[in-house]
Amino acid sequence: MEIQITQDLVRKESITPNDAGCLKYIEEFLAKRGFVNETLTYGRVKNLWSINRKPGPLLIFLGHVDVVPTGPIEQWDHAPFSGHDDGTYIYGRGTGDMKGGIACFMSALSRINPDDLNFSLGFIITADEEGPSRDGTVKVVDELLQRGEVVDYCLIGEPSTIETVGDNIRIGRRGSINIELEVLGKQGHAAYPARVDNPIHKVVPFLDKLLSEVWDEGNEHFPPTSLQLTNISAGVGAHNVTPNNLNLKFNLRFSTQITGDEIQTKVTNFLEAEGIKHKIQFDLNAKPFYSEPKLFTEVVQKSISEVQAFDTALSCSGGTSDGRFMAKTGCEIVELGPKFETIHKINEKIEKEELERLTDIYYQILLNLNEETNN
Ligand SMILES: [Zn+2]
Repeated sequence: MEIQITQDLVRKESITPNDAGCLKYIEEFLAKRGFVNETLTYGRVKNLWSINRKPGPLLIFLGHVDVVPTGPIEQWDHAPFSGHDDGTYIYGRGTGDMKGGIACFMSALSRINPDDLNFSLGFIITADEEGPSRDGTVKVVDELLQRGEVVDYCLIGEPSTIETVGDNIRIGRRGSINIELEVLGKQGHAAYPARVDNPIHKVVPFLDKLLSEVWDEGNEHFPPTSLQLTNISAGVGAHNVTPNNLNLKFNLRFSTQITGDEIQTKVTNFLEAEGIKHKIQFDLNAKPFYSEPKLFTEVVQKSISEVQAFDTALSCSGGTSDGRFMAKTGCEIVELGPKFETIHKINEKIEKEELERLTDIYYQILLNLNEETNN
């Protein structure tokens, strides 16, 4: 069933923020199993909130149906929204990120009778994860908190696997901050250094400080905070003219050892120490989060070892995810999904075998959590 659902979802061209009928498809599936569905619309984005209420804790499965653009279609071996099955793989944009994960969880759910669950099961499915992420999970979470909904556990089907399904699960993510700097100078003739104010020369000592800074050492869950310059531009194109200004873009992926505000202060201090005239813009697009492993993480680990006969690794690696918004509820968060190797790339694909194993693990999680919540 998970293979069919993956293909059905991939064939809907749901590039952010368009859900292209994916939400309706999931909604109908859940309605048949006694779930109560609600569409929460913010701006142009539709989100699905669906719940099967029981006495006992609440587990939310969190996912997104939106996908990133395909890139040049002619470079794909199979059309990106074809869901082509070559016997081993299902091809298409969103197979890995993350329609496959959603399909597996739906399929796992179909193996049980939701009436037999000892816990409430909810779904938050958004169409705004790959884009600005402003009208998706963040708003749904606020709405649920406002209604007094208490969330205990959250399972996110984002791709987390390195080699074999379940070998790596995530219990946190780093923060991310984008910084855009304009160094202001004075344009002039290269032959008259006294009469120019060259922003390229001024930025060099600043860059030196920026790149040699040890922001933190990381901690047992997070690697040290890292910085990458992503764009630098200056110059008018002539050999004998110094530029008026220089534009620089850089990004930091940061651990829980430092805050966005602290990064901002450090960068500003470097600029001031070098006496650089500038304009600067800080865009904190994700705060880091860390979810202390407790009962639910143990349930997930146990379930993986039952299906795969190996122990899984806990990590906080990867880009950002909507887990950062769920963290606000104080619930325990685990991200477990398929391989991330081909996501966002040309020829994104997922192994059929991988879908089957992931479904087995999700099913096992439902059974094991049911046992844990039985008393
Ligand atoms: Zn994703």
